Amino acid sequence: MNNECVFCKIADRRIPSDIVYDGEKVLVFRDLKPQAPIHFLAIPKKHISSLNDIGKSDMPLMADMMEAVKDVAERYKIGADGYRVVVNCNENGGQEVFHLHFHILGGRRMTWPPG
Ligand code: AMP
Repeated sequence: MNNECVFCKIADRRIPSDIVYDGEKVLVFRDLKPQAPIHFLAIPKKHISSLNDIGKSDMPLMADMMEAVKDVAERYKIGADGYRVVVNCNENGGQEVFHLHFHILGGRRMTWPPG
């Protein structure tokens, strides 16, 4: 738990969000500024700053994150057509919120390479 962290506040319900999945250890909610018809963020409820900070003991939690991704992809019907999962890490990765999150983007054709 990090008192100043916006995603910790979302996990704690101290600030509102549009939640689409509420698991024991993982929360998924809609991104405030969606970049696609479906744009969710999957977060661990515990504070992990970035992908660099995932420890070996977090591997079961990472499995829960992937289960959550699959769950929302199926329920929001983007699984069959396909979707993209993005983790921005640190400055060159374009990370703005320093609480690990997986962007889940779907509902349109993605382009490659990313910007
Ligand atoms: P990143 O650049 O990977 O750190 O992405 C941070 C994402 O968090 C951006 O897509 C923001 O639109 C999103 N975001 C920031 N604050 C909130 C919030 N309070 N609720 C939902 N999404 C948010």
